[in-house]
Amino acid sequence: MAILKTIDGGEHHTLAALDASKLIVTLAETLKSLPIPESLRFGEVKTDHMLVANFDPEIGWSPPEIKPYGPLELDPMSSCFHYCSSVFEGMKAYLGPDGEVRLFRPQKNMERLKRSVERMALPPFDEEALLVLIKQLIKIESRWIPSIPGYSLYIRPTIIGTRAALGVAASDSACLYVILSPGGPYFRGATKGISLLAVGDTVRSWPGGTGGHKLGVNYAPGFLPQRIAAEKGYDQVLWLLGDDERVTEVGAMNVFAAVQRDDGDVDLITPPLDGTILPGITRASTLYLAQAHTAGKISLPGISPSQKLYTYERPFTMADLVSWSEQDKILEVFGVGTAVIVAPVSRIGHKEKDIILPSHSGGLGPIGKGLWTMITDIQTGKKEFEGWSVSCGF
Ligand SMILES: *Cc1c(COP(=O)(O)O)cnc(C)c1O
Repeated sequence: MAILKTIDGGEHHTLAALDASKLIVTLAETLKSLPIPESLRFGEVKTDHMLVANFDPEIGWSPPEIKPYGPLELDPMSSCFHYCSSVFEGMKAYLGPDGEVRLFRPQKNMERLKRSVERMALPPFDEEALLVLIKQLIKIESRWIPSIPGYSLYIRPTIIGTRAALGVAASDSACLYVILSPGGPYFRGATKGISLLAVGDTVRSWPGGTGGHKLGVNYAPGFLPQRIAAEKGYDQVLWLLGDDERVTEVGAMNVFAAVQRDDGDVDLITPPLDGTILPGITRASTLYLAQAHTAGKISLPGISPSQKLYTYERPFTMADLVSWSEQDKILEVFGVGTAVIVAPVSRIGHKEKDIILPSHSGGLGPIGKGLWTMITDIQTGKKEFEGWSVSCGF
């Protein structure tokens, strides 16, 4: 367990690390009734309990507590309210047909949260301890994981700066909390796919900015462009960057384009991690699985083993999309992320025109569908793949 040390007036203080063995559990006296799964909308229902730990610059991390879900009491001067020192993660617990509860590549979320904390100059935490604590919270809340295929329990680890002073400086105090919310499939029944409005005059991220980290500060500025896109009849924003209109992300998802090659194979292209792109775990998994399929190590469901998918992490522009579309080479465009896994794109509004993408019954094309099926099979334990799914162990 990592121990933090600070030097204060020549004296060494040892600060307490986040320690899962010090967990204090206070259970709710009455439990909520479970919602009808079909009525669930993303991130609205709250479970009975939450996990909370506080960092004090003199003491270090408090013993973590699992306690009834409820409001946090914070000083109005808290750093997070003024200077947005808040970071978060998004992950899910899946109940498999075998009754086992699993997390998908959770160490990756812990590593990304650590990088976010470093970027916001927040106090460090022990990643292994947090993962142990998350599993304990899920165990206590396991009745909330819907047993219907496609449903899961969304997990939102959050760390906010709680330094109670207005000086513009790093927050030396923090509150770490984890809340849970049951959810269903992003798309219910048949879908045509999502429509996007390409936006380049307002940008989500920029070179040297923070778009490559999961920081709260990255999201609120996107709400107005999102609202304008909705008023124009589009579901989400396609974020562009630069005079050459490079495609970066779709809403809060990473984006892929599948392009037909002259030799019959397919190029699967996503923008590179140059600091303007959020390093999604679904993005990394998509690249890896497509490569494994092409190398003959696995076979993506519904895709011929002889169909090669060549992956590229390289920039592409709106002009590329228009040109591929005009040449009938664009097979599929989709967004990927934990909430939706793979979301098909049906049309993209750009310069008062719509690029119409090939439509597929059920929304996803064969590549998106193959990836979606493979990833959900791994998440629910139907398929084992390189230890990606981790049992919660209860
Ligand atoms: C969270 C997020 C993603 C997806 O990341 P996953 O780890 O796959 O869930 C993509 N883009 C943005 C902007 C995000 O916030």
